[in-house]
Amino acid sequence: MKKIEEYVRSIPDFPEEGIIFRDVTSVLQDADGLALAIDLMQEKLKGVEFDLVVGPESRGFIFGVPIAYNLHKPFIPIRKKGKLPCETVSIQYELEYGTAELEIHRDAIKEGQRVVIIDDLIATGGTNEAMVKLIEGLGGKVVKTVFLMELSGLKGRDKLKGYDVESVIAYP
Ligand code: 5GP
Repeated sequence: MKKIEEYVRSIPDFPEEGIIFRDVTSVLQDADGLALAIDLMQEKLKGVEFDLVVGPESRGFIFGVPIAYNLHKPFIPIRKKGKLPCETVSIQYELEYGTAELEIHRDAIKEGQRVVIIDDLIATGGTNEAMVKLIEGLGGKVVKTVFLMELSGLKGRDKLKGYDVESVIAYP
């Protein structure tokens, strides 16, 4: 059986020169790769008690929904600005390349609910930090974040001190 690392394709100089992009499409386009990725991420939630899965557009949806489905939990999308139809709260933040704004439905999380965040990759940690602020702003408690991949050299974890953060694959 192939290891999960072997399914990830690394693309040099995408989307900008000097960046090595870790491509998840090569994981998803293989049935064994997809199943292994979901299983390994879900394993990190063993023993974790929580109420909701939250995932950001778009790759957070890909991994978040099957995990929520398997564990019979609701899935709450965090989307790019202007996509959600009901009342939202939003946050602006810095990306590894550029800035972005994310939104969540105001009624999606109730005070005291325990939230697990699922995403494909942590780079600078900016996206995760912004999501934590949105969730906590609604009264949610982030009990764990699980990534498929972590770019350790970008020190995203420094932005998430005090939170339980795990990744399946860590790149230097
Ligand atoms: P951060 O906010 O931690 O700097 O960036 C994380 C976000 O950027 C993730 O949502 C991820 O989808 C995207 N991202 C940044 N670099 C990469 C990469 O090398 N590969 C993939 N698949 N996504 C990346």
